[in-house]
Amino acid sequence: MNGFEVLTLPGKGRSMIARRPFKTGETIFEEEPFVSCQFSWNQTYGYLACDHCMRPLETSERNVQRLANDPSITLPLPEYCPTQQWMEQFTQCPQCGIRYCSEDCRIEANKKYHTVACMGNRRYDETHPINILNEKWKKMHYPPETGTIMLIVRILAMYKQSRDKEEFLETLKQFQSIVVNEELQIFHKMLGTNFESQLSDLFQTFCHAFSSEEFAMFLTPDAFKSLMGLIGTNSQGVATSPFAEWVRKVSDVDLPPQEKLQLDNYIDELYHKLNEFAGEFLNNEGSGLYQLQSKINHSCIPNAQSSFPYSNDILVLKAVNDIQPGEEICISYLDDCQLERSRHSRQKTLKENYLFICKCPKCEEQLKDPDETSEDEDDDMDMEDEDDDEMS
Ligand SMILES: [Zn+2]
Ligand SMILES: [Zn+2]
Ligand SMILES: [Zn+2]
Repeated sequence: MNGFEVLTLPGKGRSMIARRPFKTGETIFEEEPFVSCQFSWNQTYGYLACDHCMRPLETSERNVQRLANDPSITLPLPEYCPTQQWMEQFTQCPQCGIRYCSEDCRIEANKKYHTVACMGNRRYDETHPINILNEKWKKMHYPPETGTIMLIVRILAMYKQSRDKEEFLETLKQFQSIVVNEELQIFHKMLGTNFESQLSDLFQTFCHAFSSEEFAMFLTPDAFKSLMGLIGTNSQGVATSPFAEWVRKVSDVDLPPQEKLQLDNYIDELYHKLNEFAGEFLNNEGSGLYQLQSKINHSCIPNAQSSFPYSNDILVLKAVNDIQPGEEICISYLDDCQLERSRHSRQKTLKENYLFICKCPKCEEQLKDPDETSEDEDDDMDMEDEDDDEMS
């Protein structure tokens, strides 16, 4: 039996409720994605990940050499490299050359979507309609990336390959796709006036890429907006990094104090080098849709958190506080930095991206706080002004 239940509660909608106690740090569930996909720029810039599960496809040493642009870097303790054991299993699609971490991933991808999605020898052909669509998307979404149109491309390929179309659509429908909250009159950021013309331009390109009759149901402006809303409000960021994984592992190794200090200093030095060359972009990044996880509500004081401990797209939800039976399980849709901001700033982000007004205990407690924007957010806002016509 699961330790939780998904219920529809009056005034709250779908909620996940604990059915047994969970201790801090305990796993609540593990879940494979319904679909996942590496971000478009991340792939273009050569971040090497399995096209199916996002497992890194290079050693920790090669990863840090590439990201620091210094082939002379060596890493001690290579036995803690998480990819070493996988290297022999790496494989690729014989038609298009896309790379996978294992034969299992290649077969799974073919079974689910790649038979349809494989572009064969046109993978790098700029005139291929899917490549045109991806390029158009990239021009609208410079890094840091939060989504990719290629996730929708993959969903359509899955639809075409699925044996039971109705069942597939039913599963897809379980991901709530709200672009407009009628009741509260809030609209997703991407439907703002700045985005309207870009969105219709993207839609035209999308229609061109999926012109065949069997996709007709996805090719109305409303259906397209709904797909965009679906990935906008449900997708969970996935990040893998062979270097970060190595750091995590060697940090747990029992070493004599002197060696430990040396290692720590060396790691600091490496991060400094990485920072100089690759900046904040150190991970293979993408996003996925998770059937269970997407049913969990947000709280600004969450009692659970998603993590990716296997260096791939398998999500593990863990309790970050003790949870009692009957208590709602909540995660934060905001990152750690956003969570620290004022109530006003948090609610603005949640409203624009997830279309709801947060009524968690922290927000209720801060109800009387003045409507101030947090100081650190002002910087972000300046940046937002510059790329105002981009969707995010
Ligand atoms: Zn894989
Ligand atoms: Zn292929
Ligand atoms: Zn809140």
